[in-house]
Amino acid sequence: MEYKKNDVVTVNIEDIGNNGEGIGRADGYTLFVKDAVIGDTVEARITKCKKNYGYARVEKVVTPSPFRVTPKCIFHRQCGGCQIQAVQYERQLIYKQDKVRENLLRIGGFTPEQIDAVMEPIVGMEEPWHYRNKAQFPIGYDRDGNLIAGFYAGRTHDIIANTDCMLGPSENRDILEAVLSYMRENGVSAYREATGEGLVRHVLIRTGFSSGEIMVCLVINGKRLPAEERLVEKLSGLRLVGGDLGEALSNGAASTAEKEDAGKRIVSIAVSVNREKTNVIMGNEIRTLWGRDRIEDSLGVLGSTERITFSVSPLSFYQVNPGQTEKLYHLALEYAELTGKETVCDLYCGIGTISLFMAKRAGKVYGVEVVPQAIEDAGENARRNQITNAEFYVGKAEEVLPKLYEREGLRPDVIVVDPPRKGCDEKCLDTMIAMQPERIVYVSCDPATLARDLKILCQGGYEIRRVRAVDQFGHTCHTECVVGIQRKHI
Ligand code: SAH
Repeated sequence: MEYKKNDVVTVNIEDIGNNGEGIGRADGYTLFVKDAVIGDTVEARITKCKKNYGYARVEKVVTPSPFRVTPKCIFHRQCGGCQIQAVQYERQLIYKQDKVRENLLRIGGFTPEQIDAVMEPIVGMEEPWHYRNKAQFPIGYDRDGNLIAGFYAGRTHDIIANTDCMLGPSENRDILEAVLSYMRENGVSAYREATGEGLVRHVLIRTGFSSGEIMVCLVINGKRLPAEERLVEKLSGLRLVGGDLGEALSNGAASTAEKEDAGKRIVSIAVSVNREKTNVIMGNEIRTLWGRDRIEDSLGVLGSTERITFSVSPLSFYQVNPGQTEKLYHLALEYAELTGKETVCDLYCGIGTISLFMAKRAGKVYGVEVVPQAIEDAGENARRNQITNAEFYVGKAEEVLPKLYEREGLRPDVIVVDPPRKGCDEKCLDTMIAMQPERIVYVSCDPATLARDLKILCQGGYEIRRVRAVDQFGHTCHTECVVGIQRKHI
């Protein structure tokens, strides 16, 4: 049977695709069905036909899957943030575990026996809501020309007005409302992507979950904001939910989740200048309008009372899910098997979080990171925690590592990598292999590039010893994973 656009077909959903969509077959023709849940039978309308597969959208759920749950967020279907909120959380975890395994088989070329011998069960969240410490809200207009803040709809740049995202802290709403009211009262325009006109593009809000410190940064298409002092007045005067909670706590009225919100306060208000026509959110120029340049936060690792304090500046990367980060770092440390003497390279080190936890258990740590502000933070973080055996280099891993190898003769015992989604550059992988470290710990946020890179490392004389996914991004299709790799001695 030949299908065409707008046909409505009944499909059993048998799998979940890379982007969280349901996958089913109609007469052997594969359909990727948006908003369908594995186990559903749905009537789906075909939106696009290719020769061997097509795309469709759910028209009606005929028989709901046992894994289907009622999403908490009313915008989940339009919003591009949560792709799998309608899937039961435990089933989401199985999906992510399978995704890692499938990529290792298909792209990595490993055998099922090899993978099943080393793969451990995914580490899930106890409470998969309000876990994100950072959000970047686009600012724009609705159809009637009202100022709005929210999120981009899936695969578009249309903004859905929603200041109350279930993944972030609830105070974000109050902060955004204050920014919008400052804009309205002072005639401040929002940026229009189509024309490149207008001023305010995004609001970045980052919260230290341990410290309670909040940074608000407005990304603007211009040098200055009009009446900056009014924005400062509004934001610095905000009484956040967390502040009021102090009283609720003493009455014993607040729940445990709310207790974590206690004492949240804005400590930094900044603007970032971005005048480019680009999808990159932050501009490189940051100016602090009020308070400090950076927020502080602290992280520990599972099973230890030790904590390390970190300064984070607006342009630096900081893991978005602190609770799960502690579990992730715990595994990275375990896989590194440090005894106190080792030389460690931490590539893609950000503000030196993994580097500093490693430094406490190693002889010497070298961190490498491309963003200069992050390296400044890393140096400051080492000093404030009195860690003297960590050194940081700014530059691309694929450029700095060969220099450390060829010019300085560096031969690390352990190399940790934690690259962005595109994975490691081949030059970086080749240098790692040439350095012959005993162990490599690969922390990855993209199983496909992870599998590609592992194939190269294993061809270069290494083998996988342990693999474990850690859910950093509940309700989204994103999957984090840590792999322990060992040099083969032949
Ligand atoms: N390990 C850190 C950061 C991981 S995110 C942590 O756990 O917090 C990945 C980091 O790699 C980002 O800070 C990004 O700026 C950096 N990065 C991206 N490309 C890079 C490259 N080619 N060389 C070095 N660092 C890079």
